[in-house]
Amino acid sequence: RAKELGRNNFQFFSEDMNRSIMEHLALEKEISEALTREQFSLVFQPKISLFDFHITGVETLLRWNHPEKGFIPPDRFIPVAEETGQILEIGSWVLEQSCRQISSLIRSKVLPPTTKVAVNLSARQFNDPSLLNRIRSVIEISKIPPQCLELELTESTLMDDVESAIVTMQEIKKIGISIAIDDFGTGYSSLAYIKRFPIDVLKVDRSFVMDIPGDQNDMAITAAVIAMAHKLSMTVVAEGVETEEQLHFLRRNNCDEGQGYLFSRPLSLAQLHQFLSEHQRRHSD
Ligand code: C2E
Ligand code: MG
Ligand code: MG
Ligand code: MG
Repeated sequence: RAKELGRNNFQFFSEDMNRSIMEHLALEKEISEALTREQFSLVFQPKISLFDFHITGVETLLRWNHPEKGFIPPDRFIPVAEETGQILEIGSWVLEQSCRQISSLIRSKVLPPTTKVAVNLSARQFNDPSLLNRIRSVIEISKIPPQCLELELTESTLMDDVESAIVTMQEIKKIGISIAIDDFGTGYSSLAYIKRFPIDVLKVDRSFVMDIPGDQNDMAITAAVIAMAHKLSMTVVAEGVETEEQLHFLRRNNCDEGQGYLFSRPLSLAQLHQFLSEHQRRHSD
């Protein structure tokens, strides 16, 4: 009977759904192989002060180099890993590696001690009861000053369960770590909650920056978000800055920091080293 039902159920799936389920299962298996076979690596994208162009920090971005399929973008596998729970193991690895790698650059004075390393945290990680202990142990192992660590959370992560999110955020802040809201403006958070969250940094989503200076509405929204964030004592970072025009607009509107291809693509640790020394040379005179 079960078998029959199974067979009948099977027919409810369209060819397309069937294919996507199979792909999903294959990806799940490949993700666990990627972890054990060390196919993951990290790249770092600098964040730049729009006032004096110094490097304020770097954001860690995960990379998966699959032996046959080549580069698989995070937007494709992170949602799967989030669903299967594999993101917990991946996320711990990202957190620990980010802190180790950047902490060593800070200790060897390649980066100033005020530099922040920003790590993206998925909803599942944020809601994991062992998150705080994990963070504390990573800080201890990597010897990174907690003030150098920033966690990037999305609006949807925080809106899941607002009251418990506030408590978790407060615990994170007590350690000395700062909190950034990623992709701001694309989620479903309300201003009533934004004012209650202990947020340090607001990252204006790339979709608002993209069409500056062509789109009047995007310019109005970006300028208003910057002003609002400043009134709430938050630092504002613009994502996806690609052109000089965008940079001028953001500077005119007092945006604090920028991130994007205009300044730098995400870099390997070796490339980051190179970027830092060139950047220092350019800005020292
Ligand atoms: P995000 O955190 O908003 O990261 C910014 C994304 O925009 C990155 O894509 C980055 O490479 C890209 N980007 C930066 N500057 C520019 C620009 O000027 N133009 C354009 N077109 N793109 C730019 P990436 O690396 O593909 O990551 C995509 C998303 O995957 C991230 O969005 C983040 O949500 C997620 N992600 C990446 N690494 C991790 C991770 O370690 N953990 C978790 N949970 N999520 C991650
Ligand atoms: Mg991010
Ligand atoms: Mg973002
Ligand atoms: Mg994004």
